Amino acid sequence: MPVKVRFAPSPTGSPHVGNLRTAIYDWLMAKHEGGEFLVRLEDTDRSPDRYAPESIADIEESMRYLGILPDSWWVSGGADSPYVQSERLPRYQEVIDELITKGHAYKCFCTKERLEQMRARQQELGTPSGYDRRCRNLPPEDSARYEAEGLPYVVRLAMPLEGTCLLKDAVRGEIKYEYRLQDDQVLLKSDGFPTYFLAATVDDRLMGITHILRGEEWLGSAPKMIHLYAVMGWEPPVFAHLPVILGADKKKLSKRHGATNFRWFIEQGYLPEALVNFLVLLGWSTGEDNRELLTVNEIVERFTLQGVTEHPAIFDYEKLKWMNGQYIRKSPPGRIIGLCIPYLVKAGLLSNPPTTEEIAYARRIIPLEQERMKTLSEVVDLVGVFFQKLDYPEGYDEKAVAKWFGVAHIKPLLEKEIAAFEALPEWSAALLDSAVRAITEELGVKFAEVVHPTRVATTGRTVGPGLFETIEALGKERTLERLRAVLTRI
Ligand code: GLU
Repeated sequence: MPVKVRFAPSPTGSPHVGNLRTAIYDWLMAKHEGGEFLVRLEDTDRSPDRYAPESIADIEESMRYLGILPDSWWVSGGADSPYVQSERLPRYQEVIDELITKGHAYKCFCTKERLEQMRARQQELGTPSGYDRRCRNLPPEDSARYEAEGLPYVVRLAMPLEGTCLLKDAVRGEIKYEYRLQDDQVLLKSDGFPTYFLAATVDDRLMGITHILRGEEWLGSAPKMIHLYAVMGWEPPVFAHLPVILGADKKKLSKRHGATNFRWFIEQGYLPEALVNFLVLLGWSTGEDNRELLTVNEIVERFTLQGVTEHPAIFDYEKLKWMNGQYIRKSPPGRIIGLCIPYLVKAGLLSNPPTTEEIAYARRIIPLEQERMKTLSEVVDLVGVFFQKLDYPEGYDEKAVAKWFGVAHIKPLLEKEIAAFEALPEWSAALLDSAVRAITEELGVKFAEVVHPTRVATTGRTVGPGLFETIEALGKERTLERLRAVLTRI
C-alpha cells in the first residue's frame, strides 16, 4: 500500500519548531517512499486559549517557507476535502452514533461540579484519577429523559475493564498497556465538537493514512485510539512517536530556552534549508557517515523511520546558528543580497523603497560580510557602518578610538592618506592597498599600525572585512569625508 502521511496541526498559535519537525518528517517520508502527504487542520478545541484563527495563515506560511508543500490541504483542496475538522462534524457524529448503538460509547451527564468533587476525592484518597464511570451503566430511559430535559452531556468511550493493548510503535517497539488503567475518554464534547481522539482517528481512517507520525506527548492516547479502531473494525495505521525535544538543560524545550515559535526563526533570517537540515537532525541520524550538513535532496534520499531514535533530542541554538552561517556562506551572493535588503530597509539604513543607487551600494557591501553572517538579520549590525552617517566622534567605537587614534603618527598618516586617495586615478582595492603600503614605508612604522587606525577612521571600529575591499565599497566621497572629519577633530 503506498504510504500516506498527514501533518495535523491545531491552530493554537504560531507553529512550534517541534510541530514543524513532525511536518518535515512527514514530508520526507512521503517523498522518500513516493507516497502522499496531506495537511489537516485540527480545530475542534474552541476554547479561547487553544483557538487562534490567525495562526492558520502562520501554519501555511511556515510550510511554504520550509518548502515542504503537501499534496493536498485546505489551501488547495483535494480528494479528502474538507481538510478542516470543524467542517467535518457530521462524519464524527456518524461514528459516535454507531459507537453508542453498539455499546462502545455512552452519554455522560455528569456536571462540572460533580467531576471536580470526584477529582478532589481521588486526590484525597490517593486513588488513580480518571472518570469513575458513573454514567456508563445509566439505564437507557434515564439517559433519554436527561437528554429530553436538555441536560448537557459528553460522549465517552467505554474502555475495556480488562485485557491489554499492544502498541507496535515504529520508533519505540512494542508497548503494552493495561486497559483497566485507561480512562473512559471523552470523544464528543457538550458543544458538539469531537475531541482529538475521535476526530483524528476518524479522519486518519477516512483519509487512508498509513503512518501516524506525531510527538511523544501523544503516546498516552495510543491505547484509546487503538481500542477505537478495534471496536470500529478498522485496521490501525502504523504509529511512530517522535522523540521529545529538550533545551540545553534537558528540560522540555520551552520559551525559557529561547524562541520556539517559527515566526521568530523567519524574522531572524534562518534559511529554509538550514532549518530543515537542523530540525531533521532532532531525532534522526543521517546514516553511517553521520554527516550533518546535507542538502534537502540528500535528506530525502536517506530518510526512513528506521533512522528515527527514541532518545530525546537537544535543541542547540548555537548549532543552528552555525549551520545557518554555513548555508549563508554557500549561497550565491545575489540571493543573500536580495534577502538582506528588507532587513536594511526595516532598520532605516535604506529608504523604503530603496533607490537605485542605494541598491547598487548594498550590492557592493553585503557580499563583504556574507562570510561572517550567521543569520540574515545580523546584516544590520555587520554593514551598519557602511550606511550610517559616521561623523567623528559620533558613531565611533570609543575603545577603538582610544587605542588607535593615540598613535604618534596618526596626523601625518591621515594627511598622507587623504592626499594619496584624492589623487588615485581609479578607486580600487588594489590601488588603495599599494597607496597605503607606500605611506607605511614613508612613515617607517609597521603595516598593522597603519591598517588599524585607517580602519577605525573609515569605519569607526576595529573589525570588519578586508580593509581595502571595505574602503573600495565605501566609495571615494564617503571615505574622504570620514578621514577629513577625523583629521580636523582629533
Ligand atoms: N492536533 C495535534 C497537534 O496539534 C496533532 C497530533 C497528531 O499529529 O496526531 O499536536
